[in-house]
Order: sequence, then C-alpha cells, then structure tokens
Amino acid sequence: MESAEIRRRWLRFFEERGHTVVPSASLIADDPTLLLVPAGMVPFKPYFLGEVKPPYERATSVQKCVRTPDIEEVGKTTRHGTFFQMCGNFSFGDYFKEGAIKYAWELLTGSLADGGYALDPERLWITVYEQDDEAERIWRDVIGVPAERIQRLGMGPNFWSMGVPGPCGPCSEVHYDRGPEFGVEGGPAVNDERYVEIWNLVFMQYERGEGTGKEDFEILGDLPNKNIDTGLGLERLAMILQGVQNMFEIDTSRVVIEKATELTGIAYGKAHDSDVSLRVVSDHMRTSVMLIGDGVTPGNEGRGYVLRRIMRRAVRNMRLLGATGPVVGELVDTVIRSMADQYPELESERERIETVALAEEAAFLKTLKAGTNILDSAVSETKATGGTVLTGDKAFLLHDTWGFPIDLTLEMAAEQGLAVDQDGFRRLMKEQRERAKADARAKKTGHADMGAYREIADRAGATEFTGYADTEGESR
Ligand code: ATP
Ligand code: MG
Ligand code: MG
Ligand code: MG
Repeated sequence: MESAEIRRRWLRFFEERGHTVVPSASLIADDPTLLLVPAGMVPFKPYFLGEVKPPYERATSVQKCVRTPDIEEVGKTTRHGTFFQMCGNFSFGDYFKEGAIKYAWELLTGSLADGGYALDPERLWITVYEQDDEAERIWRDVIGVPAERIQRLGMGPNFWSMGVPGPCGPCSEVHYDRGPEFGVEGGPAVNDERYVEIWNLVFMQYERGEGTGKEDFEILGDLPNKNIDTGLGLERLAMILQGVQNMFEIDTSRVVIEKATELTGIAYGKAHDSDVSLRVVSDHMRTSVMLIGDGVTPGNEGRGYVLRRIMRRAVRNMRLLGATGPVVGELVDTVIRSMADQYPELESERERIETVALAEEAAFLKTLKAGTNILDSAVSETKATGGTVLTGDKAFLLHDTWGFPIDLTLEMAAEQGLAVDQDGFRRLMKEQRERAKADARAKKTGHADMGAYREIADRAGATEFTGYADTEGESR
C-alpha cells in the first residue's frame, strides 16, 4: 500500500466516524515554546489546555513533524526519521479510552475492503501504563488481545504530560512484531526494533500540578473533560505494509536513496556504513525540503540552524559516499516529486525551495574543504599531546568561521576517535550571543519587536543545545 493511500484511508476512516478533517499545520509551530512541530497534537494544544473552546468534538489529521532530538538515531535504527508524518485522531471531551482503543483496533486489523490496513492481529502487542488497569481490561476483555501480549510499562514511556501544569495521563501503545529476524522475542518491553511501535494512544484524564520533568510531579485529580490524543507514524506503518525492513526503504524515501546511488555509484545494501549514509541522505533531504517548503531558511539560530545542520549533514554524507560536485539540486527534485502527491504546494513553491537549497549547498561547499583541514590539524594536535577531547575553542572556531554545525564536528571528530568538549563549545556560543545582545543594546536601535524575537530565538537556540528539553516535553 502506497503512503498516499495509507493517508487517504486514515482520514476517510475517521471522517466516516464523525471526525473533522484538519489539514496539516506548518512545521513552524505557532507556539513560542517550540521551534518545530514534533507531534500531531501541537495545533490542538489550546483546546487540550482549555484556553480555547474547540470548534468540534472530534478531529483527525496527518501532521508533518520534525524531531531534531532523533537525529542521532537516523539511519541506525530502522524507525527514526527527523521528518515523519503523524496520523492522529483527537477527542475533546467526547469518546475516551474504550472508544479510542476500539477505533485503533478496527482500523489496524479491518479488512482492506472495509477501508482498514488488514494487519495480522496476532502480530500486534500492546503496552499500557503500569497502573492503568482500565486500559488493560479493555484490550483484553473488550478487544480480546491475549493477556500475554499486553505489557505494563512505567511512566517514562507510558505516561504523558506537557512538562507543565495542565492535562496529563497514561498512554497505551500498539506495536507490530516483525518476527525473529529482528532479534529476540519477549515483546516491546524487551526489544523495540522487533516489536516496532506504530501507534500511541494518550488518555488525558488527570490534572497535573507543579513539578519538574516527565516524572516528578503531583497529580491533582481528574480532568472535568477527558480527552484523547493519538499518533501513528505513517512511515512506520508504510514500512510494515510495504514489507520493507526500514522506514527509509518505503516508496517516498526509496527514490531518494536511488537518486543518491545514481549520483555516487554506491548501491544500497552493499555495506553497513554506506547504507547508513544513504539513509541519512534520504531522511535529511526530505526534512530539508519540507522545512524550506514551510518557509524556514538556513541560518545560525533557532529553526534556521536546525535546517542548516540537517542539510549540511546530508551534503557531507554524500561526500562520504564519493560525490564531488553539487548534488542538492537533483536530490531536492526527487523529494519534491515523491511528496508532491501529498503536498502539492511543494510543486508550486519549487523554484523558491530549489534556490534556498542550492545557495546553502554552495555556501557549505565553499568552506567544507578549509574547515576539514582545520579539523584534521586540530585532531592531529590533540592526538600528538595524548588528548582524547577536541577543545571547545576549536569546535567554536569551526562553527563560527567555517560554518560547521556542532554535530558535524562531533561526527567528524568521532570518526577519528576523539570526543569534543561540548560544554566549552556551548559556553563560547553563549558568550557570543551575550556580546551580540550587548552590541545591539549599545546601538540602541530601539526596535522592541526585534528584541522579543531575539529572546525567543535565544531560548530556542539554547534548547537545541541542552538536550532539547522543549521538544522532548512534547514527545510522548
Ligand atoms: P519511539 O519510542 O519509537 O521513539 P515515540 O514513543 O518517541 O517512538 P511518540 O512520541 O509516541 O513516539 O509518537 C507517536 C508515533 O509517531 C509513534 O508511535 C511512531 O509511530 C511515530 N514516530 C515517533 N517518532 C518517530 C520518528 N522519529 N520517525 C518516524 N516515526 C516516528
Ligand atoms: Mg515509544
Ligand atoms: Mg510513543
Ligand atoms: Mg522516540
């Protein structure tokens, strides 16, 4: 089943069941606490928080998402992209736990003729929050999932909150058993690559009090209106329905790998390292095109920096695969053609997207060689003195003068067996920002909105470096 068909079936299924179809929001979150949209619920947040009365009781969407914190996983696990699409169904004070569970089961296991995805029910495993007896009972007694395929997990994976006072509640996740070729048995609690998570159901039923983080807070009581928020990864379901081993091998991603092969002569499936690079290129080019499509331009802060990191990493992986000239033009074209079916605006925005992408590639290629030389000599110096850590100064110089995003430096240093003093790097970045702020104040430009923008950008920039607290709060 093609990705576009998975999406159509999703929306039709929920539309037929009284849900309003809501188009994907832009990846640029309309929310000062977030750089980019990491989950399908973000556009509905004001309804869940009770700030705005929802115009419907049920909604469904297929939301474009970017998760920068997953960047390290890309190409290494089979199931993490920086860009993916989250299919969701939402209930605002309408149906709750039993309704959501029944819909999930019906859609996943329903026959193709009935509009379902026809997954084999015996391959589905369920996790519930360890104290959520009700969810377990529904899966077991109402749906009929055998007790041995339901596992209880703790708060980390199976309890959701936004990290601030407001709604919170347990989750229940549906996983698909891909079989023994993906490793040991024992369910999702033991092996999350074999039992791949496809769908997360969040039951917002409690009011959360003050406290920090994901686990350390008080539950004040029940919410007056209980809500449902679910998310299913479209690419993960495509991977299963298309019978491929990896989300980068599905219809919309595979063509990008093929284009990268054509440009480098390196076939997919030849060697572990080149396969990882091909998957990184496929993912990162898709992410770049979708970000530029939504109006992000490469820069040194905030979302511009996310885009820059991702695009430069794609270009460098193409170099590792042996490309010597420019490659971005053809890769962008391939991504646009593979995604335009679902996002027609990519075609109408083609010229702008290509111009931005080509300019970024050109800027990077100009400094890549010189920066690589600087890095290589810094590595040699460090090794000559018996060190194992590249200094923060060097990482900062590479960033500031040669346009090397920090994870590029990390990656290139690691390839030569060195770590990087990231704390030192962050300190220098912070100092630089403070200097810039002081300069701006000294100039007394008096542009109040610019100041507000700076503050948001600074906060966002800091978030990007310090473990992604904000985006992680959204990740359920
Ligand atoms: P995982 O545990 O596999 O990292 P998650 O628990 O972080 O997934 P959720 O936050 O529950 O994911 O998001 C809902 C759904 O979105 C997941 O069940 C999965 O299908 C999909 N998803 C999440 N992260 C990614 C990603 N990086 N790439 C592709 N799909 C994803
Ligand atoms: Mg999970
Ligand atoms: Mg999850
Ligand atoms: Mg995750």
